[in-house]
Amino acid sequence: MKKKRLFSGSRYTFLVLPDDGGPSMRFRASTVLLAAIPILILALAATASTLYLLQERSAWKMDRLHQQFDLSSGAYKSEIAYKDASIRQLQKQVVEFAQQAENVQTRLDQLDKLASAMKSFVGIPEPAGSTVQSDKPDTENGVGGELFAATDSDYRQLMDGMGEKYASLDAQIGELKEALTRTHTEAQKKKQQLRVMPTFWPTYSQRITSQFGVRIDPFTDNPAKHTGIDIAGSLGDPVFAAADGTVTETGYNSARGNYVIIRHKQGISTKYMHLFSISVSKGDVLKQGDTIGKIGSTGRSTGPHLHFEVLEHDAPVDPKPYLNMAMKGMPIDVQVLEKRQD
Ligand SMILES: [Zn+2]
Repeated sequence: MKKKRLFSGSRYTFLVLPDDGGPSMRFRASTVLLAAIPILILALAATASTLYLLQERSAWKMDRLHQQFDLSSGAYKSEIAYKDASIRQLQKQVVEFAQQAENVQTRLDQLDKLASAMKSFVGIPEPAGSTVQSDKPDTENGVGGELFAATDSDYRQLMDGMGEKYASLDAQIGELKEALTRTHTEAQKKKQQLRVMPTFWPTYSQRITSQFGVRIDPFTDNPAKHTGIDIAGSLGDPVFAAADGTVTETGYNSARGNYVIIRHKQGISTKYMHLFSISVSKGDVLKQGDTIGKIGSTGRSTGPHLHFEVLEHDAPVDPKPYLNMAMKGMPIDVQVLEKRQD
């Protein structure tokens, strides 16, 4: 008998008979269909497990990504916080530098004023309108007001302004240096001029008790010519040389008491009378401000004082214009201080 090929052309009938005697059901299926069922089931199972594995893998990957994202996000957050803090610090520094620039400007303006005063003191003319006027606020006193947060544009403006400010400060410092150098040279010249002229107050006291010129003589009560000035002083106070010079005469007579005569440059000489004592000798070379003796009341004198004379080519002149040369623009305490240092 010819062997039949498996499933070829065969069909199967499935009969379902209910136990309660109800109508039966009949299913017919070909062998091909019957053979395909397990293959389909296997294919479905394989697909389902593949999908399941893929889904598991995706979930795992998602978890890892979430973890990585959380880590990165934390790192970024702390980096942003750090950068924010750095920016705030920089902004604060910008404001502080701008304030410092203003402070330096204020102090430079003060120096400018001082330089102008020194120029005027040594006789350098000041160009019109060159006086520095500072419009800077005095922050040492109270400050206040509403609080407004500064914007980026404010900081940019501040930084731009600061660059200009430092450039201007640099230029101002250059000008100031030049002006001060010139003033220093002039001051040295002036000092030299003043040293050789009788411009130095010969006593601590600057109280003139009798002026140069015609006066009522204290002994005769009649008008008489007073050839110098009388400066009141305490007995024993030092008497100073009014200018650089050479002692030409020292001595005593009944009118002058103890006296000293010093010769200076340009035909000028000075006389110091009524001294309590003399501490120099003829021929001594003196510097302005050197002590030559002590205030006394020797000779034709009513009390302790210095009779001080200035002579131009042996003719007595009023000493005050000479003394005022040094006094002009110079505080009295500076002169007294200089004397006390000797
Ligand atoms: Zn006198």
